[in-house]
Amino acid sequence: MQHSINPATGKIVKSYEQHTKEGVVSIINSVDKTWHHWRSTSFMFRGQLMHNLSSILRSRKEELAFLMAQEMGKVKNEGIAEIEKCAWVCDYYAAHAESFLENEPIETEASKSFVSYQSLGTILGVMPWNFPFWQVFRFAAPTIMAGNTAVLKHASNVPGCSVAIEELFREAGFPENVFRSLIIGSGMVEGVIKHKAIKGVSLTGSNAAGKSVATIAGSELKKCVLELGGSDPYLILKDADVEKAAKICASARLLNAGQSCIGAKRFIVVNEVYPKFLEHFAHEMNAAQFGDPFDEESTMGPMAREDLRDELHKQVLDSIKKGAEVIIGGEIPHRKGAYYPPTILEHVKPGMPAYDEELFGPVASVIRVADEQEAIKVANDSDFGLGAAVFTSNTKRGENIAEMQLEAGACFVNDSVKSDPRLPFGGIKTSGFGRELSVYGIKEFVNIKAVVVK
Ligand code: NAP
Repeated sequence: MQHSINPATGKIVKSYEQHTKEGVVSIINSVDKTWHHWRSTSFMFRGQLMHNLSSILRSRKEELAFLMAQEMGKVKNEGIAEIEKCAWVCDYYAAHAESFLENEPIETEASKSFVSYQSLGTILGVMPWNFPFWQVFRFAAPTIMAGNTAVLKHASNVPGCSVAIEELFREAGFPENVFRSLIIGSGMVEGVIKHKAIKGVSLTGSNAAGKSVATIAGSELKKCVLELGGSDPYLILKDADVEKAAKICASARLLNAGQSCIGAKRFIVVNEVYPKFLEHFAHEMNAAQFGDPFDEESTMGPMAREDLRDELHKQVLDSIKKGAEVIIGGEIPHRKGAYYPPTILEHVKPGMPAYDEELFGPVASVIRVADEQEAIKVANDSDFGLGAAVFTSNTKRGENIAEMQLEAGACFVNDSVKSDPRLPFGGIKTSGFGRELSVYGIKEFVNIKAVVVK
């Protein structure tokens, strides 16, 4: 069984029967069979169904936000915004898939040659609980618009979201087996990847899961896209609008109770503005109303699971043992549920979990540096390379740092890092490989075919 456990209370909300091995094989066979028809449907037909899906998402956003709050503690406003973003990605690929995948003529000695983009078959999505709708839709919308079919193995703590997503596809009028959810644990992923009909796998999750899935996919010579962890640096330079930067930094750290791969995690602040930044940042972090995700007043809910909260607290304690100092937070509150308070650690140095590892919760690592050059060096001194942001009033200089000097898949100037259907999303170094979203995302799971006519 898989259980939905409300992280605000620790109580089981609902339990879901897992699929058996035979059940999984039968679903994959059906999804594969459907691909043979689905691959030759028109973009117009697929697009119409995607638009239906986006309308249904919008009309049910409150109910779906409630489901997320119940299973993983997301506050209502953030849940509604997540569902609206899912609707956006459906509409975006409905509108653009055809032009993204249009044949491209190439001049050669032959009478005609061109590049054609053909679907591959059934693609597996292995997805995390932190944005339980968005992560799935940003994988599924381009994959399905390209003519593939998809199966989802969602995180074991959000089976309700997994089942709901399959139902949404059905309700939108997609043929029965274009998109199916598998209710299985991670132990069954190997068997799914090895099924002959599975032609590729897209995983969003931890580095450990990424290594395991990439190893299996590699041994089967199947393509994979990996969207893994991050420890995004936010650089505050001496000419930054410090008050504004502190506000943006705090909200980028606390979004989704700090459980975002592109959450701001390391705040690298130059000497001249360090005291002012810390004062404003602490004020903004303290202003968060953390509480029941169902309460309209709450701006931050509990973390998704108690074990994850305890793991985060251990990283905080280890960092303190090694010399980090707590400015605010840092203690597990005396209340039921997986709550953790907004926390700031300063004097963060190499060798501490707060410097070297991803802190997947509302904990900020603040690092003081002498100047811009040191800020860039510290920003890049990480195994991760997902996102980065730089705050400066010299936007030309900021642009140069973002483009040329920061080692990350997405670099923002004077704003927090955000995913957007129009922009490629993905990381370098141990944050993964491949890209989702935009024209790049839809080309990950297609056969880029050369056609030459003599
Ligand atoms: P996780 O434990 O790696 O789980 C992610 C998914 O992988 C779940 O469906 C999980 O299934 C499955 N999984 C775990 N271990 C596996 C294995 N050995 N083989 C096959 N599947 C496996 O990650 P999480 O705790 O849910 O999510 C947090 C992590 O995801 C963070 O590191 C975060 O930065 C990263 N993330 C990255 C992005 C991005 O776009 N780069 C976006 C969001 C999150 P079970 O639940 O059944 O274990």
